[in-house]
Amino acid sequence: EPAQQASWPIETTLCNYEMIESVNDDLFKNLKDIVQTPFFRYFRVDLYRECPFWEENVLCMSRDCQVVTVDESAIPEKWRSNALGKLEIPSDEQRESLPGCYYRDSDFCFLDDETEGDYVDLALNPERFTGYAGVSTQRIWKAIYEENCFGQAELSLMNHPASAEAYLPDTMADALRVDGDSTDGQCIEKRVYYKVISGLHASISTHICQEYLNQTTGEWGPNLQCFVTRVASHPERLQYIYFNTVLLLRAVSRIGPYLSAYDYCASGTHDEHDTLQMLGKIITHAENVGKFDESVLFRGENANVLKEEFKQHFRNVTRIMDCVACDKCRLWGKVQTTGLGVALKILFELDEQALDPKLNSNLLSRTEVVALINTLYRFSESLKAVDEFRHLWRETSDAD
Ligand code: FAD
Repeated sequence: EPAQQASWPIETTLCNYEMIESVNDDLFKNLKDIVQTPFFRYFRVDLYRECPFWEENVLCMSRDCQVVTVDESAIPEKWRSNALGKLEIPSDEQRESLPGCYYRDSDFCFLDDETEGDYVDLALNPERFTGYAGVSTQRIWKAIYEENCFGQAELSLMNHPASAEAYLPDTMADALRVDGDSTDGQCIEKRVYYKVISGLHASISTHICQEYLNQTTGEWGPNLQCFVTRVASHPERLQYIYFNTVLLLRAVSRIGPYLSAYDYCASGTHDEHDTLQMLGKIITHAENVGKFDESVLFRGENANVLKEEFKQHFRNVTRIMDCVACDKCRLWGKVQTTGLGVALKILFELDEQALDPKLNSNLLSRTEVVALINTLYRFSESLKAVDEFRHLWRETSDAD
């Protein structure tokens, strides 16, 4: 990444990467432990809503695509439906147009209706290779990248009859790689948007390559070639994994006091003290290395219009998750787009007063807290995997 202007929200210098890497082992250790606790491992999700954008006929029948659900009786009473009270009831109009799902104006994502769906134990359903690929995934990633198309410049690009190939993500990447021209306020927001999506894609690819199924031997393990092809040979994708990690850490740091005051206890099923201790360490790391400056975004003349557009497009990405034909991929797609949506909300919608746990104790639903922390976990795990792939690469090169 070229030297950055003062107005870029994150200093992407080598030093900054090193800072994250220096804390990632400990950050990952704490996240890995915290996501094993009952509060953070049970996630309510509706995996059976129809794709709202096109008729999706593909169904991934592979065993690896399946999700193991948990009987509701195994979930502490306290977490079952009381979280519902924390969501505003949508208007009739909203309900009509979006049956079964709703959002508040400040949200960057559609949350599933928490009265529907199943509980899933996230710890028992790791994101990894499932074999889900082909036309269905191409269509979904294409649709997700197309949501990047907002503002006049992109609209004309996308509508240009001669630029059909502009729909391909790689071409989009080139078209949108406008580093250096951030004098135009809008550019920063669009670039941030693209980086969030591309970084998520790169992180998912990293998990797939890290836990890859060798279909010949039936063994699971890291696949270096997969990682090189999908991620490492595109250095900017690697950068965007860091970018998302910093963005999430900044959000966790801002929401730190609220998270520390949250009630994680449920009828003595686990030790709340331990959860708070782990959380405390995660928040400290977030404060130290979550160097994302959200104040440089959405400042221009049309800031509010642009923010609404940004929000609307990101919400659509969360809805596209209902088109993912592999249940396990859909599950993690929903967790992570929700987690990123919550982070964006924390950064761009909530001021200090709103974040105050005393003034606003119902700020986030349990689903949002669980999604935020699990999404950070996935990104921290990706960075750990990147490190392991680096070692593997060196070993392979030394052997040659
Ligand atoms: P894809 O990853 O499908 O990429 C399509 C095209 O996008 C590429 O050809 C490239 O041009 C471009 N591209 C790729 N990466 C980036 C990037 N980071 N930035 C910009 N452009 C890029 N599969 C699993 O095995 N397990 C999962 O858990 C899983 N979860 C998924 C979740 C979602 C939400 C989606 C949409 C798909 C998921 N998949 C999962 C499928 C997986 O992401 C790939 O689509 C699939 O493995 C096929 O990969 P591919 O090599 O064809 O390229």
